[in-house]
Order: sequence, then structure tokens, then C-alpha cells
Amino acid sequence: MNIHANDGVSQTGQDALAAAGFTITTTNVAQEQLVDYINENNITGLLVRSATTARKELIDACPGLKLIGRGGVGMDNIDVDYAREKGLHVINTPAASSASVAELVFAHLFGAVRFLYDSNRNMPLDGETKFKSLKKAYAGGIELRGKTLGVIGFGRIGQATAKIALGLGMDVAAYDPFMEEATVAVDFFDGQSVNVSVKIKSFDEVLAQADFVTLHVPAQDKPTIGAAEMAKMKEGAGLINLARGGVVDEEALVEALDNDHLGFAALDTFVNEPTPAVKLLMHSKISLTPHIGAATLEAQDRIGTELAQQIKELLG
Ligand code: NAD
Repeated sequence: MNIHANDGVSQTGQDALAAAGFTITTTNVAQEQLVDYINENNITGLLVRSATTARKELIDACPGLKLIGRGGVGMDNIDVDYAREKGLHVINTPAASSASVAELVFAHLFGAVRFLYDSNRNMPLDGETKFKSLKKAYAGGIELRGKTLGVIGFGRIGQATAKIALGLGMDVAAYDPFMEEATVAVDFFDGQSVNVSVKIKSFDEVLAQADFVTLHVPAQDKPTIGAAEMAKMKEGAGLINLARGGVVDEEALVEALDNDHLGFAALDTFVNEPTPAVKLLMHSKISLTPHIGAATLEAQDRIGTELAQQIKELLG
């Protein structure tokens, strides 16, 4: 049986599939040629990450397809209900990337409180001639210890983020409409683990109390954080969106940064991927990454292995 991973899949995943007797291809085929590729090569399973879409038209045009697999969490690039109605298996790997996304939150956060996102832009240009004025500009950073991290959406990634925050000595205030209380296990390298109960608060309480707000909700029809919600955040607070483009109102964000209500933002996901708004990309108060939350070697290995396991069970 042939499996095609159009956005690639880790070597461990390829090896596990090959060992189970599947033939795996990983050539990236342009979206408009994908239907022909699938039909001409008798592909039974299509694996995607976030770049390739598997919409109704593709599902209808590929009668031999039995499975669509998403390496990662969000399945907004797949018509999941339609595919399932048509009898296809639709799978993903919900837990594999949580730790990697959580670490990227802190890569942004540690950088942001010391202005690294701006310093890294200006040191190559002016570091030699204006060292003293840059030193002054980037003084006045703050520590994370003792600050409050507001986590909106307290699922897998929200909780993985909270664990790191707790380990650093931060307070965590979480909001999740489907949760009343939560205990997270903070694990140490030597096998010790400490259970910490996290306060689940109202949305407004979290916005008002947090020094930094990080979003870990699924894709939304309308922004979870728009102008009204930003207005409820503390003066100088930071806003982090590694969830999905559109969860934050980008226009309102630029305004809140420009009028100094918010101190900084960190974005890994954008409304208009893969061509994000230039005013976000050029903004001196935004720490930027190109949707790489799950793009670590470890997460990709776990994703590949989990997909292979599920494919073996469903199609093997
Ligand atoms: P999850 O399903 O485990 O958790 C989501 C949580 O959000 C749930 O607990 C749910 O109850 C809560 N929620 C739903 N609607 C909400 C709302 N309006 N307000 C507050 N909470 C709400 O999902 P997860 O694995 O933690 O993933 C979270 C997000 O991270 C998803 O959007 C996913 O697409 C994104 N993600 C991004 C990357 C990346 O590369 N940047 C990688 C993986 C996942």
C-alpha cells in the first residue's frame, strides 16, 4: 500500500512504515497537481502537515484514498467531517508537539523581556557605531520569575506551557471554558515530579492579572483577543500567539503596540499564511517566527512514529 507524505514525514516515521510493508513517498507535489499524483500512484494514505490542504474536491476526486493523516494538531486544512462521511480515516497526532510549542513560547518570552527581537535586528546594523545608545535602549528589561503568565486555552499545549512557567517560579492564571480546575505535574530531569494546582479563572480575570498572555485555543471563527480584550490587559503586557492566525486581531494588535498599551507581541501564526501582513513583519515590537512551533527534531520524530503506528493499525 502506498502512503504519500506531501509535506514530508520524519525518517523514523518512514522507517516504521517501511518496516510494516508500506511504500512511502515524500516528494512535495504542488497542490493543483496533487489529485493526479494520488490517482496515478495509487496512493491509499495522504499525510500532510499544515501546508497541504485536503478539501472536499480532493476527497471526491481521489476514490482510492482511504486515510488522511495530519502530522500535528490543528486539522483546519482538512475537511474532516466530509472525509469521515465518505468513509475515510482521518488521524492526527495531538500530543506529539506540545512540549516543542511550549518551549517556543518561552524562546519568545525570554527574548521579549530583554528586547532580543529588536536588538538582533539593530546590532548588525548599528552595534559598531552606536553601541552605547543601543545599550541604553535595551536596558530596563525584566525577569520572568514572579510574573504572572495568563494562559488562554488550557489543553495540552497550554498545560505544557504552564509547567515551564511554574518551573521558572512564575504564577499561572488559566482560562478555559471547558475546565473548572486543573493540576499539572511539573517533571524534573531525575524523575521527581511535583503536582501543582493551577487557578482556572474567568477570561477577564486572566486578562487583567497577567503580565503576559499566551493563547493555546483551537482555530476560531472570530478573534479571541480583539481590541476590547487588549484594552483589558495590563499596560505594557505581552501577547503571544502560537495557536492559529486569526485568534488575535492583527489590526488591533498593531494599534495596541503603536499606542504603547501593549509592550510586545510574539507571533508564530498569522492570518494570511504564507504571506503575513508586512506591518507585522516590520514591527519593532513583535518577536517573529514562521509557524515553527512543532518544528523540532524531537516533535517530528514523535509525529512520524505516532502516524506510522496509527496507519499500521488502521490499514495494516
Ligand atoms: P487542545 O485541544 O489540547 O487544547 C485546546 C484547549 O482550548 C481546550 O482545553 C479547549 O477547552 C480550549 N478552548 C476552546 N475554545 C476556547 C476558547 N474560546 N477560550 C479558551 N479556551 C478554549 O489543543 P492543543 O494541542 O493544546 O493545541 C492548541 C492550539 O495550538 C491549536 O490551535 C493548535 O492548532 C495550535 N498549535 C500550533 C502549533 C504551531 O506550530 N504554532 C503546533 C501545534 C499546535
